[in-house]
Amino acid sequence: MSDLDELKSQRRGVMFVLSSPSGAGKTTMTRRLLAQDPAIAMSVSVTTRQPRPGERDGEDYYFITKDRFAELEADGQLLEHARVFDNYYGTPRGPVEEALSQGKDIVFDIDWQGAQQLAEASADDLVKIFILPPNMRELEQRLRTRAQDSDEVIAKRMSKSEAEISHWAEYDYVLVNENIDRAMGELLSIVTAERMRRKRQPWLSAFVKRLVR
Ligand code: 5GP
Repeated sequence: MSDLDELKSQRRGVMFVLSSPSGAGKTTMTRRLLAQDPAIAMSVSVTTRQPRPGERDGEDYYFITKDRFAELEADGQLLEHARVFDNYYGTPRGPVEEALSQGKDIVFDIDWQGAQQLAEASADDLVKIFILPPNMRELEQRLRTRAQDSDEVIAKRMSKSEAEISHWAEYDYVLVNENIDRAMGELLSIVTAERMRRKRQPWLSAFVKRLVR
């Protein structure tokens, strides 16, 4: 590791929250972001909903019972939690605090309720990004292509989408995912710029002192 790399590692991680209505492409974008950037970790939520085909425990979510969820909540082990549709979702506190203290960035795939709770707890470390679909027809199509939910669930998710979208103005950045490559480019620009904020580079004063010595 070069001297500069060592200095730069003395930083606190940034928390990137990604919210969107279901089917706006948030999961794909999160996965791509993680694949492209080894300095970003994913916060894996706990949920009481049933796994969808192909979802893996410990990777997509930790699938837990309602009793276990209540226990974690009562024990203060959730950084934020919310009821979405008929299920409970929450962010385990431990892994987030550990990653941040190691200077890693974290991405959260959570809804507006979770974003608000994180903002109340740690506004300085938080960057809130909202992803909009190009239109509602496309949103429904994406939900159907995913083909893992019943018609009834899809109808329910569509009716919830407008409610989720109504929170767009609470976010720092908003992007429209009409083209996934372009949207990814926009997301990566946000991540890069937010990392370069002066307050997120506490190593700079030591660096500059050495520079002009
Ligand atoms: P899904 O059931 O489709 O995986 O997720 C439904 C919604 O719950 C999505 O909008 C997702 O972002 C949100 N969600 C997932 N995990 C969490 C969490 O830990 N906290 C909150 N507040 N929302 C979550």
